[in-house]
Amino acid sequence: MELLNIKNLKLAGKKVFIRCDFNVPMDEFGNISDDRRIRSAIATINYCLDQECAVILASHLGRPDGEIDTKYTLAPIALRLQQLLKREVVLSEDVVGEDAMKKASALQSNEVLLLENIRYEAGETKNNEEFSRKLASMAEFYINDAFGVSHRAHASVEGITHFFDNEHKAAGFLLQKEIQFFGKLIQNPVRPFAAIVGGSKVSGKLEALINLLPKVDKVLIGGGMAFTFLKQMGYNVGASLVEDDLLEEAQNIMDKARKLGVKFYLPIDVVAAERFAEDSVSKLVSAQEIPDNWMGLDIGPATVRLYREVLNDVQTVLWNGPMGVYEMEKFSRGSNKIAHFVADSYGTTVVGGGDTADLVQRIGLDEEMTFISTGGGASLELLEGKILPGVLPLIVKEA
Ligand code: AMP
Repeated sequence: MELLNIKNLKLAGKKVFIRCDFNVPMDEFGNISDDRRIRSAIATINYCLDQECAVILASHLGRPDGEIDTKYTLAPIALRLQQLLKREVVLSEDVVGEDAMKKASALQSNEVLLLENIRYEAGETKNNEEFSRKLASMAEFYINDAFGVSHRAHASVEGITHFFDNEHKAAGFLLQKEIQFFGKLIQNPVRPFAAIVGGSKVSGKLEALINLLPKVDKVLIGGGMAFTFLKQMGYNVGASLVEDDLLEEAQNIMDKARKLGVKFYLPIDVVAAERFAEDSVSKLVSAQEIPDNWMGLDIGPATVRLYREVLNDVQTVLWNGPMGVYEMEKFSRGSNKIAHFVADSYGTTVVGGGDTADLVQRIGLDEEMTFISTGGGASLELLEGKILPGVLPLIVKEA
């Protein structure tokens, strides 16, 4: 799949709108804990600046749900960008309001404007046409470098592309790199191929899991999502995170895995806690014996050992989602141990998703992985063989 190339655009001296993914994890003090996504966008931004462009950047941060919420301001991102780009980055007060429009229109060559959190506007996630038009009106060129949201048909990712012809839009360097990497991975993965899937929600990853099954040899489940499966198996999961409306789907996934001969692993023991808190009492219990009102917040040592054995012969690993509440030290061991096994592997190791990349980076293993993707959901959908809605309008059509 060939994408419209930024190098073919006649950008010199023009205004460029770049959709980036600056949705970075923050710690409890509001500090950016992993700025990989910001650093990954620098190549494209600098390329445009080298062409004497005026650069307008847009991104979301968290889920402000279409309302202005200062908790999600992009102010910390503007500061970090300023350090990385070594030049001033102006943050607009709104997204397409008076201030943003005024600043965009006055923007000169070599200047950088960052729009406020694009999800302050409800039109973004609704892919509203009028909102897309307003965004498009700010610049002569559109670049998508936001791999992490390219699986979403949102206004700044999909809707906006309809206002630019093929000579005026392209994929940025990061998007190109991610698409190329996963393209190769999916065509010819060296087997055995294992997917380690964790994180909090089954709902976000259910479809991805179903579609991944025919592509992989083993699936190892961890994190909060494991409990929906364990409950469906008839285990007492106490007060662990469970999505009751997805129990049947969980069964479907397990049935399909069996039919396809895919080895499907669930945790056999967990670290259970009385409360969702770092200072809670906790104990190790079998996955079948979580006490009532207790919740499983990490995989236990028996699971870690089992998963190490299972990963032993694997040649390709895709890891998406932490094995426990890794943000709390007490529940981070399972994730840390798995991170070490993956890092030590001689196979191809791919880490996807903000949280997983964050945890790998926190323990200093990021350099040991073959590839750290800036997109969790997006990379899963690519591996399923889907064409992402944000990528589709940027594909070069063969004559
Ligand atoms: P996701 O966004 O779905 O990848 O989920 C990432 C989040 O899942 C992290 O913030 C973890 O703290 C959380 N998480 C992992 N394991 C559990 C668990 N057992 N119970 C609750 N939350 C969890």
